[in-house]
Amino acid sequence: MAPKVWLNGKLVPRDEAKISVFDHGLLYGDGVFEGIRSYGGKIFRLQEHVRRLFDSARGIRLSIPMTPREVADAIEATRRANGLEDAYFRVVVTRGIGTLGLDPGRCREPQVFIICDRIELYPPAICANGLEIITAATMRTPPNAVSPRLKSLNYLNNILAKIEATDAGVLEAVMLNHLGYVSECTGDNLFIVRDGVLSTPPVSAGILKGITRDSVIEIAGRFGIQVREENLTRLDLYIADECFLTGTAAEVVPVVRIDKRLIGSGKPGPMTKRLGEEFHRLARE
Ligand code: PMP
Repeated sequence: MAPKVWLNGKLVPRDEAKISVFDHGLLYGDGVFEGIRSYGGKIFRLQEHVRRLFDSARGIRLSIPMTPREVADAIEATRRANGLEDAYFRVVVTRGIGTLGLDPGRCREPQVFIICDRIELYPPAICANGLEIITAATMRTPPNAVSPRLKSLNYLNNILAKIEATDAGVLEAVMLNHLGYVSECTGDNLFIVRDGVLSTPPVSAGILKGITRDSVIEIAGRFGIQVREENLTRLDLYIADECFLTGTAAEVVPVVRIDKRLIGSGKPGPMTKRLGEEFHRLARE
């Protein structure tokens, strides 16, 4: 089946899915997006993702020319048109065509498109044995600038940290916030385990409120694991028993080395495994 992209209400072949060079999404990163996944034909936490998309849009005063229901239906229609059961979706809303000036008021027609594809963020061996990460020197955008809660098209902050990771020969980097506390990785949230307690930075630390993060907190609650949303320092990471990342594409990925320091035993920990397996089961349910 030839891959199709949903573009402003139509399913079009991939190479016909085009956006203008005058689109403010391209000129200024003025737009919002979501990354969503389906397992066995069922889209995971679809309502939550659609809601976050509308919240992000509202946050930048971008009005999506569709209802949440229509967006959800369009994602499902894109999945069917591509014939994929296990898929990754990129839903993007741009401000649309405007002038070369910044004024978003000149952009009359927001553009909406949905890409459906397969995704493998990290090689399976790394997921099994654990990831090595570094702390980036690039600070996370402060929450009172462009809030990291907005899933906007402006990902340069994350890209700069990702370049640092690549330069260091690793796949991910954790960013600290303007206060020096841990925020999140370039495309994933971060958790640690110490003495059986699960901790993760609060939303106020300047993070995207990940939907996988929420699911893991929920699962931990069901397992009777104590969960704390609290500020973490780099030292907290270094002396943790376990560390893992969460994200739609990554799911639950163990971290075994940070800034060359071994975390815990240097192997994926038992709580990481337990939560990862349960997340896997829940997503495929
Ligand atoms: N933080 C950032 C910066 C992200 O881009 C993402 C999504 N890739 C996440 C965290 C994880 O969010 P979610 O679990 O909703 O995919």
